[in-house]
Amino acid sequence: MARRKLTLRASQLEYAADGANADLLDPVDPDDPAGAVIRQIEHLGVRILPTLKGRPATTFRAAVFFPPHFWTQSDQVRAAWARHELVHNFQWRQLGRVVFLLRYSDPRWRWALEVQAECAAMQTYRDLGESEADLVRRATKRAHDEFSNRNRSYRFHRLENGAEKHAREILLCSVGIKR
Ligand SMILES: [Zn+2]
Repeated sequence: MARRKLTLRASQLEYAADGANADLLDPVDPDDPAGAVIRQIEHLGVRILPTLKGRPATTFRAAVFFPPHFWTQSDQVRAAWARHELVHNFQWRQLGRVVFLLRYSDPRWRWALEVQAECAAMQTYRDLGESEADLVRRATKRAHDEFSNRNRSYRFHRLENGAEKHAREILLCSVGIKR
């Protein structure tokens, strides 16, 4: 029996598109983009800890875990990545541990949490001067790689195909590009 695809609900789409958490981020510092966000993380009392090679970055309320290759990325990538993780930290604070974990275990809500965090990464690239054409390419690739039904590790393959399109629209909208 074919399993029915999961359809995103209006509340999940709205949550993903809500930039409220991203507003808590310090402005991007073009002179030291990664250093500034790392300092904000530390200033909030969130510890930065290592995770194993090959593992994705993970956020728990009091800590952000980065794999070793985080530290070898460019300043821009580290700034965008760290801001993505910092939004997850704000989500933890906003929702509380239980609700956050419940949502994270549901592919539709996980999608919403990830899209919201990824909007902060997109905004970082925009604020660091990435061109509109590159932002469009980035949003398209991110939506395809992370939020389409191809990403089995997040169980996003259970989402209906519209999830990838919605993710791309929300990412572009968050950097002021309407399509
Ligand atoms: Zn994430």
